[in-house]
Amino acid sequence: MIKIFNTFGKKMENFDPIDKNHVKIYVCGPTVYDRIHIGNARPLVVFDTLVRLLKLSYKKVTYVRNITDVDDKINKKSIETGKPINKITSETIKHFHVDCNKLKNMPPDFEPKATDHIKEMVELIDTLIKKGFAYVKSGNVFFRVKNYDHYGRLSQRTIDEMLAGARVEVSGLKENSADFTLWKPSSKDLPGWDSPWGRGRPGWHIECSAMSKKYLGETFDIHGGGADLIFPHHENEIAQSCCANNKQFMAKYWVHNGYVNIDQKKMSKSLGNFKTIYDLLKKFNGEVIRYFLLQAHYRAPLNFKHEYILEAKSSLSRLYRSIKDFKKNGDPDKEIFFHLKNDLNTPKAFARAHFLSEQSNKGSREAGQLLKNSSALLGILEEDTETWFKNNPIDLKIEYQLSETNIEEMIEDRRIAKEKKDFKAADKIRDNLLNNGIILEDNVNGTSWRRT
Ligand SMILES: [Zn+2]
Repeated sequence: MIKIFNTFGKKMENFDPIDKNHVKIYVCGPTVYDRIHIGNARPLVVFDTLVRLLKLSYKKVTYVRNITDVDDKINKKSIETGKPINKITSETIKHFHVDCNKLKNMPPDFEPKATDHIKEMVELIDTLIKKGFAYVKSGNVFFRVKNYDHYGRLSQRTIDEMLAGARVEVSGLKENSADFTLWKPSSKDLPGWDSPWGRGRPGWHIECSAMSKKYLGETFDIHGGGADLIFPHHENEIAQSCCANNKQFMAKYWVHNGYVNIDQKKMSKSLGNFKTIYDLLKKFNGEVIRYFLLQAHYRAPLNFKHEYILEAKSSLSRLYRSIKDFKKNGDPDKEIFFHLKNDLNTPKAFARAHFLSEQSNKGSREAGQLLKNSSALLGILEEDTETWFKNNPIDLKIEYQLSETNIEEMIEDRRIAKEKKDFKAADKIRDNLLNNGIILEDNVNGTSWRRT
């Protein structure tokens, strides 16, 4: 039995699918205007691991992850760069697939694009208008929040709290400021489609209601995404879907992963601490980034630090070393499987993996074999050991090239550079050591160092 924490009701539940012969899961995908960052990568890896677990547990699993290719952020980027919108979206989708692949994510079964489903969205909006859950105002269509009694149940917010989070409505078109956009008019220079309410484009939330219905049905098992999507995005999806389809629920289980912080700070473009996967992949194998993202429990906040990725790399290399004689030949380790079934407890699964690794190093063939057999479940350790070390040789440098004498010499060079106030050179030495897995700590007695 799989246990999963349901955001809806905020409690741990036994996973009991609507149809045991066919499990259905929908995850909100990227808005394609820019390279994905480490915060975007977390849900991709978390839900890929959940899908791997489901596929091992059930006969049939359908995994849908959408692509948002119509959005004001994309329009803005087009104006800023002078690049046509379809060029921005098609290039970004290509980059996204490369990143996903390098992070060892299996492709979803369906990856629908919003612009291919305008017809379905228009139909859904039309149904909502006919049922009195939406209204038209000067080419806009808004969802009438007050007509849906259960609004706010997922995020457990009161109307006042929700209004505090909503943008102040300046146009005065809405009946109520909590109402949200389903459709808005497009000027000639913006992407637009013909509709009963004039030429326009959809609001963001409606695409997920339309596409989940098309590929998974009016109700399905799991809806996932980052915790930042709970309100308003997922709250609005529920309102649209339940009202249009006349259902008590949209998805049975709502699953959300926690935030990623950079050096304990919120990641943001203005702080300049944005880490794109593309940049990280220049230095690290995608499997290392995957390992790092899965080390923490998916619901806990995760702090990114350069050193932590280096640590993830040496941990992963330790595991690779202990499976060098093994090829996958059977079922995964029962204990790793058990931990994942318990609300996707990857920290415990990884601890067990390291226990098996130590046993294997001590000569247990069984332990090494079980670890290798668990690779597909975790999405790590799928390469053979030789290839791994050939492509990821930095560990050899840490162990065989940088001796204590080398390190002490470099620290002395850095001290001299600092004395001469050549901080650029001093920082360069520090970074160089860090890339070789050496962390410096400055203190009153000088500089101490440790290996990651
Ligand atoms: Zn969505």
